[in-house]
Amino acid sequence: MTAVFKNFIGGEWVDGTGVTRNINPSNTNDVVGEYAKADKAQTEKAIAAAKAAFPAWSRSTPQERYDALNRISAEILSRKEELGRLLAREEGKTLPEGIGEVARAGQIFAFFAGEALRLSGEKGPSVRPNLEVEISREGVGVVGLITPWNFPIAIPAWKIAPALCYGNTVVFKPAELVPGSGHALAEIVARSGIPAGVFNLAVGSGSVVGQTLIEHPDVAAISFTGSVATGRKIAQACVASSNMKKFQLEMGGKNPLVVLDDADLKVAVECAVNGAYFSTGQRCTASSRLIVTEGIHDRFVDALTERMKGLLVDDALKSGVHVGPVVDQSQLDQDLRYLKIGKDEGATLHWGGELLNRETPGFYLQPALFTNTTNSMRIAREEIFGPVACVIRAKNYEEALGIANDTDFGLASSVCTTSLKYASHFKRNSESGMVMVNLPTAGVDYHVPFGGRKGSSYGAREQGSYAREFYTTVKTAYTNPG
Ligand code: ADP
Repeated sequence: MTAVFKNFIGGEWVDGTGVTRNINPSNTNDVVGEYAKADKAQTEKAIAAAKAAFPAWSRSTPQERYDALNRISAEILSRKEELGRLLAREEGKTLPEGIGEVARAGQIFAFFAGEALRLSGEKGPSVRPNLEVEISREGVGVVGLITPWNFPIAIPAWKIAPALCYGNTVVFKPAELVPGSGHALAEIVARSGIPAGVFNLAVGSGSVVGQTLIEHPDVAAISFTGSVATGRKIAQACVASSNMKKFQLEMGGKNPLVVLDDADLKVAVECAVNGAYFSTGQRCTASSRLIVTEGIHDRFVDALTERMKGLLVDDALKSGVHVGPVVDQSQLDQDLRYLKIGKDEGATLHWGGELLNRETPGFYLQPALFTNTTNSMRIAREEIFGPVACVIRAKNYEEALGIANDTDFGLASSVCTTSLKYASHFKRNSESGMVMVNLPTAGVDYHVPFGGRKGSSYGAREQGSYAREFYTTVKTAYTNPG
């Protein structure tokens, strides 16, 4: 019998009321592990433990928080190969991508260890005689952290680290599909010296654990990353809750990569391949719309197709693989559905889109490129979340910019150009939270804000020092010294 990985509630490792099986998408015969599923009562226990731990943790010294976060960072970084392998095995991104993601998680904890030492407030004169005014920030309380499957350690890290840094206590619910990395991270956090109850892990379904978190009156705030549909439900539940929970949502994208006539063709092709297909296209920052001006369109499509023919799709753990499998059957079904929708809408499936057989049974899909696409087609408007991109032809820069902004989303965008004029104009006029020049839409730093506009994000930014907007609440204190 395989040992079941337990949940962490109130400082104890506890069994659940069932298990979730973690399956390797590169080889569905390989069970990565079985993970205890929390039910409603256990989730409530986790919330109660976090509530009880909040008064002391919110008053802990910056040194205590620095020490804990720093220890977490050091352990993650020292085990990055092993944890990267676990991540690639359960999620299907390639081993180098998995190791890179783990390293990022370690760096995030180091960043917030430092932030704990930089907590400060303001003190100033009152407009009224003799009074003093102080402005300070306090932890919000118990925060529920709900994460998706596509970044199983980095997204939990960029929520858990600032939550702890600013004195909050945590109930963390990883995605059921990939609980392994979240569990490994929980073990590391549990060993970091933080008091019991400050951090709790509740693996389980969105409809049970997630729902309990978003409805519970003792949860002060919810940070969520996932689909737009779930994000909307969370927003409604938070607004309806008796304590008017604070919430922060990171959702989808339909990110444009604009390629102009004067682009360096090699750079543009690399940006497209990386942005559209690396991590199997399963990134909210993926470039799914390639908007290309007329003078370079055919050369770009030819060069990109040649480059795609060289992409090796196989077991995520094999060396030299460029693209791993799709994460599971239901995501693969969604990708295939959109390939059919695209063809039915009249787009040309220019290359790829075939199911592939490899040594082991897995969800292997050849990266796909649509041409003759218009921006009104569903494949150009809806998030597919797979290795599928479409090329949209534009007359000139102005039309390309208009198409880039004509979307319900606004997470990331990019322009490939050698013109300073167009690069500057695009940075100012692109309606997205993150704008790149001669870079893929995906791939960002860990010390600066991450987030988008329109249907992509709601609430305060994540990451960097901007994270404190969500994980703290501001207090204004007046004193009459007498
Ligand atoms: P995806 O599976 O595409 O990442 P989801 O929005 O379905 O996107 O899932 C993201 C996270 O939200 C997961 O951890 C999931 O379990 C959780 N979740 C799903 N439904 C709910 C819900 N009703 N309430 C709270 N969390 C939910």
